Amino acid sequence: MSHCPFCKKKIAMSKAFCSRSCKENYFQLIAIQVPKLFLRRLYTLPKEDREVEIEQFSHRHGWRLDLLRNKIEEEAIRMGYIEDPTLKN
Ligand SMILES: [Zn+2]
Repeated sequence: MSHCPFCKKKIAMSKAFCSRSCKENYFQLIAIQVPKLFLRRLYTLPKEDREVEIEQFSHRHGWRLDLLRNKIEEEAIRMGYIEDPTLKN
């Protein structure tokens, strides 16, 4: 067994992704670049302003908002701006 690199679902070894949409999402996600300064600025803003900035950023680059949000959250955790929610318990 192998895992879909996007949704982490178990898939057959012969497959790279579980579905076409996971494949598309995965490649769109790795194409998303979040500049460090932009990321740092986001986390100095109140939550509502941060949301507005993220939406504008997604429109400007034509990236899907949900994927961009995931990416930003991932980077923010990596940079230590927020805690990893999966580690909380
Ligand atoms: Zn998948």
